[in-house]
Parts: sequence; C-alpha cells; structure tokens
Amino acid sequence: AATTLSNIGLAGLAVMGQNLALNIAEKGFPISVYNRTTSKVDETLDRAHNEGHLPLTGHYTPRDFVLSIQKPRSVIILVKAGAPVDQTIAALSAHMEPGDTIIDGGNEWYENTERRIVEAESKGLLYLGMGVSGGEEGARNGPSLMPGGSFEAYNNIKNIVEKVAAQVEDGPCVTYIGEGGSGNFVKMVHNGIEYGDMQLISEAYDVLKNVGGLSNAELADIFDEWNRGELESFLIEITADIFKVKDEHGDGELVDKILDKTGMKGTGKWTVQQAAELSVAAPTIAASLDCRYLSGLKNERVAAAEVLAGAGLKEEVGSVRSGIDKKRLIDDVRQALYASKICSYAQGMNLLRAKSLEKNWNLNFGELARIWKGGCIIRAVFLDRIKKAYQRNPNLASLVVDPDFAKEMVQRQAAWRRVVGLAISAGISTPGMCASLSYFDTYRRARLPANLVQAQRDLFGAHTYERVDRPGAFHTEWTKLA
Ligand code: NAP
Repeated sequence: AATTLSNIGLAGLAVMGQNLALNIAEKGFPISVYNRTTSKVDETLDRAHNEGHLPLTGHYTPRDFVLSIQKPRSVIILVKAGAPVDQTIAALSAHMEPGDTIIDGGNEWYENTERRIVEAESKGLLYLGMGVSGGEEGARNGPSLMPGGSFEAYNNIKNIVEKVAAQVEDGPCVTYIGEGGSGNFVKMVHNGIEYGDMQLISEAYDVLKNVGGLSNAELADIFDEWNRGELESFLIEITADIFKVKDEHGDGELVDKILDKTGMKGTGKWTVQQAAELSVAAPTIAASLDCRYLSGLKNERVAAAEVLAGAGLKEEVGSVRSGIDKKRLIDDVRQALYASKICSYAQGMNLLRAKSLEKNWNLNFGELARIWKGGCIIRAVFLDRIKKAYQRNPNLASLVVDPDFAKEMVQRQAAWRRVVGLAISAGISTPGMCASLSYFDTYRRARLPANLVQAQRDLFGAHTYERVDRPGAFHTEWTKLA
C-alpha cells in the first residue's frame, strides 16, 4: 500500500524538538521525526501515542526521514547550535531536492545562518533561521516563532506555523521577520531583553527583601498582585510561584537554598557585543550580563564580604529599615521596575533598529512586539503598548519619547529615584535599575558634559571639536592658552 507522506519533518528530538513536533502533530499536521540517537525517536513515538495518538511517524535514518515528507519538503532542525547544525544539514541535505527547505529552530548565531543560506542556495535549497521562544512549555503548547530568511520558504510553512504558534487576540505569535539571519538576530535580542527583565525582577526582590524586610510569603502575594496590573507578565507570574515553593529537604522555601550563581548560554553576551559593534547603548542589558559574571565569582564574593565587612553601612540599613513605610516601598519598587523595564526595551528595540538599517532588513517593530505578546519568556501585557507606540510612529527614536510612555516615565520617576537612592544608601546594589535610570537621565538631557571630553581629546590628541555657535571643526592650542 502507498504510504502517506508527512506535511513536514523535524530532526533533533531533545527538549525543544520533541515538544514542537508533538505540538505540530496535535494541530493536525502529520509529521516525520528523526534524531541522531534513535532512542529519542522511540521516546517521541511513545509520547505521540500517549498524548492522543498524534499523527507522528519516527524514522531512523536521514534518508528514510527525508523521503517520508511530501515535496517541496520542509524540515525543521532543533539541535545544539553551531557545528551540530552543519552536521545535521549535511546528513539531511544529501537526500533533499531543489525547492526543499531547511529551517533551523535553534538559538543560532545569525551569521552562521547567513552562511548556510548561501550554501543551501548553491544546492537549490531554501533556508530559514527561526528563533523559537517559550522553552519546553511554549514548544509544546504554543511558542513565539521568529522566522527569517527565504520568504518563499516561509510561505510554504505559513499555514503550519500560524497554527502552532501561541495565539493572542491580534493573531498568532509568528510573522515573517525579514531576510538573512534576521530571525535569529531578533531571537537573540529577545533573549537579551529577557536577561534585563530577570535582572530587574531580582533587584526588586532584593530591595523588598533586604531593605523592606519582606518574607517569601509577602513577596509571593506582592508579585501575584503585580501580575494583575501593568507588570502582568510570564516572568512576574512565575516569580510569584517560585516564592511559594517549600524546600523538600529542610525548613522554609526552596528559593533561599538556591546557590546565587547564574548560568548562561551566550545569547545575552552576543546581544551586548552587537550593541557595542553597532554603537548602541544597552546599559541595562549589559548590567544584567555583568551581574551574571559577578554572580559566578561566588568564592571571591564570600572572601570580599569579609575583607570589606565595614563597607555595608550596617547602621544605614538599620535606620533605613526602621523608618520604612512598607506599603510605600512596595509601590515605589513596582514603579521603579516598570520604568526600568521600559528603558531596557528601548535599548533592545534600538539595537534592532540599528541592525535593521545596517542589513536592510526592514524590521517591523510593532509586529515584533506583537509576536512577543504570547508564547515567549518575555510575554507581557505591556508589549501591546509597545506595539501601539510603533504603530503610531514606526520611526520612533526611542520608546521613552513615545507620548504615552514618556508620560508614564515622568509619573514614575520620583518613585524610581527613591528606590535607587534607598538601595544605594543601604549598600544594596541595583545595577539594572541604576543603569536604566542613568540611561533615562542621560538620554533626556539636552546638554551633557561631553563638551569637556571633547576638549580633553582636542588637548591631548588634536582630535578637534565642534562649537555650539558656529559650524566647522576647531582645534585649540590649549596648553599655550592655559
Ligand atoms: P540541546 O540540548 O541544545 O541539543 C540536543 C540535541 O542536539 C539532541 O537532539 C542531540 O542529538 C542533538 N545533537 C547534538 N550534537 C549533534 C550532532 N553533532 N549531530 C546531530 N545531532 C546533534 O537541545 P534543546 O535544549 O532542545 O535545544 C535545541 C535548540 O533550541 C538549541 O539551539 C537551543 O539553544 C534552542 N532553544 C532551547 C530552549 C530551551 O528552553 N531548551 C529554548 C529556546 C531555544 P543526540 O540525542 O543524538 O545527542
């Protein structure tokens, strides 16, 4: 009997691949799956059976896998980024034909995707680099998808990805991002923004706990409450849940037993490197990355805490604490978090804009904000406001000067300054909130002390300077005149 061919294929059945394959099958698209280590194929088949007899077939060789897919074939790859992607492409493309498409769903460096697009073209194959966000749960039930590369290839899978992606009131969380490696680049910046959000939330926690003296139970309630307001988002929601989990191995909550050392996989670092390459200030995201590095120096920090035991201004913390109005502190921290977040998103969006101009990607920032409203880790109600800000003005210089956001920033600045000031006087570091506030205060000032830097550069390096009152480049023999 003639075997029916699958609509699509997926190779790489670790956490992400397995769940995305089941999601695709569940949406009614028969799918073929393959993994280098074949036990994962069997695992996926078992899950497909147990989760509702989903239309999924397992294949044990690249050839059988590729030939089981209807033409023009679309194959999603979800393996470790870098060399494994090249190896998987080599194994699969040997059996693919002109007009078929390779879709890399990993967190790949965008230049690798651009190289592979050219290599694929030489074989007549189409290529997409598709950022996938939402972790395990998102992959299974609806991720945010950021496909970039061949528009023709996107149109081949459009009906599938639009069903598979998370759904929000203004559509599925997927859109064609642009040419080349734009999909991977946008996913990278999404992750950089995610670093910023997580850092800012951890600082809010730090201030409430160590300045405000709040318990985990109180923190859980506050984050639950915040999740019903302007901060409503996945990260705030899971944070509330985290505070509620008891430690199975001892007293109290698990969060207090977790070693304060952060892991990372590289997308945050890439974001900061790209910001520097493009001369875009991204201090909140950079501060978040720096904090992950500092967190890694656990032993050094423990030693420094002893050497610098006198530096923490204990009496300050005590007096700050004893004079604290808890209710007001909580409300201030909420506002500081919100304002800091807007600055962080402004940085991420401006990084995307700079890259879009450099690469001619023609990114649609309103659409990016829209597809981040669901499925992904940074999903948040306020992304709808970002979408609207860019719809009002696609050429917005910065989110902080959008009329609505500008008003909110000004309304929140007093609380924001109180929180940062309080933290500084208590010796509690809030690098993300400070970076955001400095960014805001620098960006909104018509005149900066950069005049002095220019004078210094001209004095020691004859770099010349411009004047405020007449055109041209000037040089002064400063030392002769001093
Ligand atoms: P992963 O741990 O990054 O990779 C494991 C998969 O890669 C396995 O299927 C493994 O096959 C395969 N693999 C590794 N080296 C290979 C090689 N040389 N040739 C062929 N296959 C090879 O898996 P993951 O966590 O599911 O992530 C997949 C991609 O999605 C990554 O780019 C990741 O950054 C990205 N991502 C992950 C998450 C997440 O929450 N985990 C979220 C968003 C994006 P074997 O079983 O044969 O070893």
